[in-house]
Amino acid sequence: MRARPQNFREASAFDASDWEDWRWQARHAATSLQALDEALNLTEAERVGATRAAAAGLPISITPYYLALCDPVDPDCPIRLQCVPRAEEAIAVRGDLRDPLGEERHQVAPHLIRRYPDRVLLIATDRCGVYCRFCTRSRMVGDGGGARSLAALEPAFDWLEAHSEVREVIVSGGDPCLMSSERIGRLLRRIGQVEHIDTVRLATRVPVTLPQRVTTELCAAIRESFEATWIMTHFNHPKELTSASSAACARLADAGLPVMNQTVLLRGVNDDAATLESLFRGLVQRRVRPYYLLQMDPVSGTGHLRTPLRRGVELMADLQGRVSGIALPKLIVDTPGGLGKVPIGPKYLISQGEGVTVLETFRGDFVEYYDPPEP
Ligand code: SF4
Repeated sequence: MRARPQNFREASAFDASDWEDWRWQARHAATSLQALDEALNLTEAERVGATRAAAAGLPISITPYYLALCDPVDPDCPIRLQCVPRAEEAIAVRGDLRDPLGEERHQVAPHLIRRYPDRVLLIATDRCGVYCRFCTRSRMVGDGGGARSLAALEPAFDWLEAHSEVREVIVSGGDPCLMSSERIGRLLRRIGQVEHIDTVRLATRVPVTLPQRVTTELCAAIRESFEATWIMTHFNHPKELTSASSAACARLADAGLPVMNQTVLLRGVNDDAATLESLFRGLVQRRVRPYYLLQMDPVSGTGHLRTPLRRGVELMADLQGRVSGIALPKLIVDTPGGLGKVPIGPKYLISQGEGVTVLETFRGDFVEYYDPPEP
């Protein structure tokens, strides 16, 4: 076997200034079996997965930065499991869906999806720095459409203008931060022209997979174009909390942009309490609020990464009382078919009688709580 480098960055003669340039990172993403083979000791299952992905499945894209976080010899590395395809992606399991959240059914205008009364999802692009193997939108990310122009989004804005009950736009994709800062600014300002929209959420994984993209110029463009923009990111493992990603989170927070994190519960990646505790504590330390722990959507080809529902409940029970409230996200199931999110969790409310409720504490004590007398 060929001797492999310890680290992809060390192995490649990259100039430091290239490495810090997000466009260079995006241009040099590994997109083929051959590129993966140069950086990692691939298993047969990964070879089969990469061949299949390149031909027909969810494409491969891994930035040099994120590839350098992969353990080159351990196929069970939690970063590698998230970005390197495996043969198991071809296996169908019960409940699998191509479009698990029924987004195509809930499309109200081109690139605009409505599943709740007061908020909508705007698909701004199909491109991402890294194509995550668990992606809910694997049916369309990397489909070649690229960033949607403002002209292409105009029917979505017409629809928004006509629906004053909608207050919030979630800008997603793909990853909108793969677009230029200028284009992001134009998009946010166009959203701001719709008077009844008071909040924007920008869903992006670049702080995790391409932290070089989080430049002070991008932060300023977001802040100046739509002030009440919340950044929704996607850290799944403490190994992703590097000095580069920490600096990216700091730039966002210092620019006055609130940062929330949605962790997807993934088998073999983060389905144990110690890993989640370390991740959630690390996020809070970096001024990022752990917001949701998401039960994985039943996307076709991801059965090998999904945990049973009861596992998330067990993990939440383990973490309750062990980590501070600001570090504890809600455990959420986004119901198949797109009928909405349901929070689930351990049962703390044991019984409810006439004026008295019995609660169970995180230590397992049973406590009676008495209601005040009726006025
Ligand atoms: S960054 Fe988001 S949209 Fe892109 S592949 Fe990953 S999960 Fe999917």
